[in-house]
Amino acid sequence: MATSRIAVIAGDGIGPEVIEPAIQVVDAVIRKFGGGTLEWNRLPWSSAYYKQTGHIVPSDGWETLAKHDAILLGAVGSPDVPETVTVHGLLLPMRRKFDQYVNLRPAYLYDGVPSPLKNKAPGSIDMIVYRENTEGEYAPVGGRLYEGTAADIAIQTAVFTRRGCERIIRAAFEAARKRPRKKLTSITKSNALPFGMVLWDDVFNSVKKEYPDVQAGSLLVDAAAMDFVRKPEVFDVVVASNLFGDILTDLSAMVTGSVGLASSANINPERTFPSMFEPVHGSAPDIAGKGIANPLAAILSTALMLDHLTMTAAADAIRAAVAAVLKEGKVMSPDLGGTASTTQVAEAVMAAI
Ligand code: ATP
Ligand code: MG
Repeated sequence: MATSRIAVIAGDGIGPEVIEPAIQVVDAVIRKFGGGTLEWNRLPWSSAYYKQTGHIVPSDGWETLAKHDAILLGAVGSPDVPETVTVHGLLLPMRRKFDQYVNLRPAYLYDGVPSPLKNKAPGSIDMIVYRENTEGEYAPVGGRLYEGTAADIAIQTAVFTRRGCERIIRAAFEAARKRPRKKLTSITKSNALPFGMVLWDDVFNSVKKEYPDVQAGSLLVDAAAMDFVRKPEVFDVVVASNLFGDILTDLSAMVTGSVGLASSANINPERTFPSMFEPVHGSAPDIAGKGIANPLAAILSTALMLDHLTMTAAADAIRAAVAAVLKEGKVMSPDLGGTASTTQVAEAVMAAI
């Protein structure tokens, strides 16, 4: 049976608190369901590591990472370390260097988890957002002139390429085709942003012709924000630019109960470089060290990792165990209204497995 090598960057704050239990859950599920073996390679890269060494990734770090089959990341970010080090030194370069152009973020309303929206049946919200992850509004293009003076000017340029639009849109169509509802919604703001977003629409309308079996539609982002709250059940697969996808997935996480349940994958579909799996939440300095972080977002992210490694039975078993724990409702972390600790939640998942 093949062994997959997993690089683990637990990172800062609650990152290590949720990643170690998630690793234990994966080891437990593999003991039970098999399907392959994993080798965990823990890398200490974090804000603390930066404070000791002056860099967050060592000089041969990207080469080291590239030798792995997948990367499992907790969170990087610390109130006393600038985001130029964490976000712009590790997270964003990883997505670009490893061409992880698909940021996949599922949102599912589990039985037993109350939605802040009224009258939502379990399973009624069931969407996957495909967020473009390498260009768009997060392209590091722009500059600042006359900083701090009355003439201060900032230029922040979004970059949309035909290739970039086409590959994320195609990935979303492929995903929609495999789901029962076969529905895809593209989100733009073409009425106000008449260049990049119009290119996106052009590409969407041309790729659409190759997928007559998929019900494809477009929505402006402001209308989408309303509908994510007003009628989130209409969405199946959603495809959006880097910025819009980022914002809308915080919204989709909230309408399904808690950011503590939101998992994500940063995927390089061609597998030229490793893909990366991480909870949507950050390092949560406000609750770090208290042992109360919800580990389910990290645990569900490992299920996405097992999907990518084609260890499907193990991935499905993790999702089923999480669903069972939530449905039973006895072991819930504080973000879901309970009193259970991080460890207790992870142990309940292992028991359900
Ligand atoms: P980032 O900049 O990395 O996105 P952020 O500042 O947006 O981080 P998070 O770290 O995601 O913030 O935290 C946002 C809020 O959600 C905080 O109040 C935090 O305590 C809460 N939170 C985040 N993750 C969890 C979790 N796993 N369990 C419980 N609460 C969480
Ligand atoms: Mg955030």
